[in-house]
Amino acid sequence: MKISDEEKEGSPVKEASKDVLMRAEHVKVYFKGKNRRSGTVKAVDDISFDIRRGETFGVVGESGCGKSTLGRVLIRLLKPTEGRICLDGTDIADMKGVKLKQMRRKAQIIFQDPSASLNPRRTIRQILTEPFEIHQMTEQIDMEARIMELLNLVGLDAYHLSRYPHELSGGQKQRIGIARALALEPDLIICDEAVSALDVSVQAQVLNLLQELKEKLGLTYFFISHNLNVVYQVSDRVAVMYLGKIVELADYDQLYEKRYHPYTEALLSAIPQVGNSSFKERIRLRGEVPSPSEPPSGCRFHTRCPRACDCCSLEEPELREVEDGHLVACHLYHLKTGDSVG
Ligand code: SF4
Repeated sequence: MKISDEEKEGSPVKEASKDVLMRAEHVKVYFKGKNRRSGTVKAVDDISFDIRRGETFGVVGESGCGKSTLGRVLIRLLKPTEGRICLDGTDIADMKGVKLKQMRRKAQIIFQDPSASLNPRRTIRQILTEPFEIHQMTEQIDMEARIMELLNLVGLDAYHLSRYPHELSGGQKQRIGIARALALEPDLIICDEAVSALDVSVQAQVLNLLQELKEKLGLTYFFISHNLNVVYQVSDRVAVMYLGKIVELADYDQLYEKRYHPYTEALLSAIPQVGNSSFKERIRLRGEVPSPSEPPSGCRFHTRCPRACDCCSLEEPELREVEDGHLVACHLYHLKTGDSVG
């Protein structure tokens, strides 16, 4: 996956530092349509960002914006079509075989639906033993002690070991999903809509648990959700995605105090009160989300943007810094900061 010098110059990520756990550079994930007429789906289209050690990097956007695809490609459950993905300084984009398997010990995923992600025919003990079997570690460690440790970390006990997933509540099943993700002591966990399938009261408990585990174990999260309110509760920084692109990226307090992108404004206006923000009324976007196989020309949001101007359908806005650490892809602010739209 070669990146040209020109492309590197256009990247919004800065010099790598020890604080960076993961760096994505110009990552693209394209899927071929089922037939010639359905075209190529550009699920993730030239995305660059860093994930800092110990942070929760939130990603929010409507269904189909590419956020789950991005999460999967970061831990190589999918292969990128183009781009570099560096975990702890090592490019994993083209990794294969044993190296890829070893890399997976460092980066794990918690899925949305705990019922679907746990094998119904296996007991909880078997489910928690699985990661150690896959990595041939069962002989090297005291499995009984490690499994009990994992259960205790997620607030469950020995009673649950002989149970099957269908005997547990939704919240308990998701705790098992978290314990399984923690088994190999990863540095990075992708939380893919990890609380979306849970009742609101259980959601809060699981979010608290994730926060406790992050502090206790020094974890880094890539936290994906369609729900901005949930992302707001847990994230240190937030990326807003629309049709395969990041359109705004900022510290969570920066974003909620002063959002720039009209799409972020619309998302925030759907939440009655968040941070210091309050909107008199919800901003309703016109039309449907366009197909990612035929994204609109120029700014992909122009067909729905309440503030679109003539240049918006002609030229694609780059994701650029408008304030310290606050990146926005919108011509309105690039013009204000003195940049030309061509
Ligand atoms: Fe709206 Fe234009 Fe900004 Fe896109 S570039 S978000 S269409 S104002």
